[in-house]
Amino acid sequence: MGKIRCIGVLTSGGDAPGMNAAIRAVTRSGIVNGFKIKGIYRGYDGLINGDIAPFTTENVSNIIQRGGTILRTARCQAFTTPEGRGKAYETLQRENIDALVVIGGNGSLSGALELAEEYDFPCIGLPGTIDNDLYGTDSTIGYDTTLNTIKECVDKIRDTATSHERIFFVEVMGRDAGFLAQNSAIAAGAEAAIIPEDSTDSDQLIEFMQRGIRKSKKSCIVIVSESPKCGAMYYADRVKKEYPEYDVRVSILGHLQRGGSPSAHDRILASVTGVGAIQAIVQGQRNVMVGVRNNEVVYVPFIDAVSKKKPIDKNLIKVLNELSI
Ligand code: ATP
Repeated sequence: MGKIRCIGVLTSGGDAPGMNAAIRAVTRSGIVNGFKIKGIYRGYDGLINGDIAPFTTENVSNIIQRGGTILRTARCQAFTTPEGRGKAYETLQRENIDALVVIGGNGSLSGALELAEEYDFPCIGLPGTIDNDLYGTDSTIGYDTTLNTIKECVDKIRDTATSHERIFFVEVMGRDAGFLAQNSAIAAGAEAAIIPEDSTDSDQLIEFMQRGIRKSKKSCIVIVSESPKCGAMYYADRVKKEYPEYDVRVSILGHLQRGGSPSAHDRILASVTGVGAIQAIVQGQRNVMVGVRNNEVVYVPFIDAVSKKKPIDKNLIKVLNELSI
């Protein structure tokens, strides 16, 4: 691999607040360090189809405060096949792109790893996902904003829950990880969180109901991680059948969790890791995700970032349980 002159940047997978701040940081730091930058639209789809434009500092003006991603994003089935990645590599060669910065979640970085290994192509990842489910970084870009959005929604739901003396099951995003559910429950003062990391989910509901939460409180809120089988509807239906004396409601927060202006924390994380991505390229690193751990920039091998399970701090479960009596 020769000298790196031009860097492509793309956003992929689910959009996350702070992705624009990351695009801005990669673009500006790249230019300052003497690289040409090209923006690749619609994630791997744009890489396969050549939907690419040169990026200057002006392209990323006035975007740090905006949610979503100016590069758009996509889920691209073709890129999961060797043929699709072959086409993507042809585009990279045709566009004279020598290295790629991928801003996305677990799937996007898995794709970057495959491309990097198959074609010996330098790829750097930034952790762009609301789910916070990437190993090796304390937080991911978008997670903090989403956590705050959920907290605001639950504050509002609490007003109606209290007025009508109802049990509310509030379903939040998180894929297979309970970080959003567990921490939003603590932040919003919810009575319980049901998360995938806790294998005793179904017992959790019975335990919780048997604690007689309604005897001491007139209403309660349970935050539930999304799940095809055991989401908020599942638990609400169970309570309706098993505890018919209670008035139960469900609120599925859905896509509003992805929107909005990124928090200061997410803008800073995106800026620091974006600059870190360019530093990684300058230093000759490849196939790493840039994260922040204990306030320090860290470079996590892709394979660890995508295949190791990020543990949830069990102390958080204790904190929530102790405070919800
Ligand atoms: P989020 O955490 O927001 O869901 P993500 O990056 O995990 O983001 P995915 O839909 O899992 O979102 O992945 C985004 C894209 O990455 C996929 O549409 C596909 O193009 C590519 N991708 C995912 N997994 C792989 C894989 N194993 N090999 C190649 N490409 C992949």
